Amino acid sequence: MNFAELGIGAPMLDVLSRAGYTEPTAVQAAAIPLALAGRDLLVSSHTGSGKTAAFMLPLLQRLKAAPRSPGRGPRVLVLAPTRELAMQVDAAALAYGAGLPRLRTAALVGGTPYGLQIRKLERPLDVVVATPGRLLDHIGSGRIDFSRLETLVLDEADRMLDMGFLADIEAIVARMPQDRQTLLFSATLDGVVGQLARRLTRDAQRIDIGATPERKADIEQVMLFADDLRHKTRLLDALLRGAEVRQCVVFAATKRSTEDLCGLLADSGFSVAALHGDMQQGQRTRTLQRLRDGQTQVLVATDVAARGIDVAGISHVINFDAPRQAEDYVHRIGRTGRAGRSGVAVTLMGHHERHRVRDIERFTGQPIRIDVIPGLEPRFRPAPAFKRPARPGPSRRPSDRPHARWQGTR
Ligand code: ADP
Ligand code: MG
Repeated sequence: MNFAELGIGAPMLDVLSRAGYTEPTAVQAAAIPLALAGRDLLVSSHTGSGKTAAFMLPLLQRLKAAPRSPGRGPRVLVLAPTRELAMQVDAAALAYGAGLPRLRTAALVGGTPYGLQIRKLERPLDVVVATPGRLLDHIGSGRIDFSRLETLVLDEADRMLDMGFLADIEAIVARMPQDRQTLLFSATLDGVVGQLARRLTRDAQRIDIGATPERKADIEQVMLFADDLRHKTRLLDALLRGAEVRQCVVFAATKRSTEDLCGLLADSGFSVAALHGDMQQGQRTRTLQRLRDGQTQVLVATDVAARGIDVAGISHVINFDAPRQAEDYVHRIGRTGRAGRSGVAVTLMGHHERHRVRDIERFTGQPIRIDVIPGLEPRFRPAPAFKRPARPGPSRRPSDRPHARWQGTR
């Protein structure tokens, strides 16, 4: 199956082949024909599976048809949870649509000045990509009209609900034409997301690609036990000095701890920057640009701030603080192993956090190797207390844990 057979036409096909997209991913193969046919979709598919192109390509293709009514409001609206993601989707729209005559897009995201956004809204637009809060601001001041909206996309809908955007989304959707097309993307379609999905869509086709990547990124997963904060810090320092570290994202639990760690690492001589949700958009953009340019070697970030970062130089992810949820773990380690390269994900675990490892392993279906750095061994060897009923016992060299048995117990 290729993109042409899915119904994608000339200008975009050129862009795709230049970008090295030789064949559609599973979610693209499933979603593109249905989206082109105007169907509503509920899609769950793992991070990195190519969901952006799965909706953007067919919607750009549909923009070739004349708008159904005159006006200047957007024909496609994409809602995304964070500024960073919204900017990425906007950039993707411009990239995929590079061959389309006069494609007009706007990213309406918080943390950036209103001026440019307002100027863009004064002229006709094809695609708007927005975070819910800022979009509501513009709606509230009557600057945007949805009379000619054809398609609404909710990207990372579960994340938007986690971030408390449910009421905002409902308020936005209330302004849209009833006969629009709705495409909803979410890691899960259970619970509140499922209920929202049912309210927003009509006769939706469900696409479920499953949690396990079909093009599994080659990410080595390792865990180091840490006795206390001081030990963790020494482990981090030793890891970052490893010869094989090109660039690294270090995850911390809070904005405060990202800044503290960032200061500490700067004092130790690393080229380091922090990224968290309180930063102004301009500052975030500059920070990410320096990371892309290779000027920053270590980025210390919170979960939300780092979501969606796609920088090929990131060879390592280090979880300084363990992720709260197994899903966060998957999103975190997905920052490495990009662009077909391999990556290493190291989680520093306090002894009291070990139960989280089990949750993560269950969620991913992949074992995490327990390792030690010579000279920085934990005082407490986890082995004796580390009971795993009906599973192979712990080991300092868990490569001798048979992978097959893990899969079998899922
Ligand atoms: P998701 O939203 O599912 O997490 P993205 O849409 O961000 O994934 O895509 C992840 C990466 O895969 C991006 O770098 C994108 O350019 C790339 N990509 C998407 N589709 C293809 C394809 N068909 N072939 C090669 N690379 C692709
Ligand atoms: Mg995405």
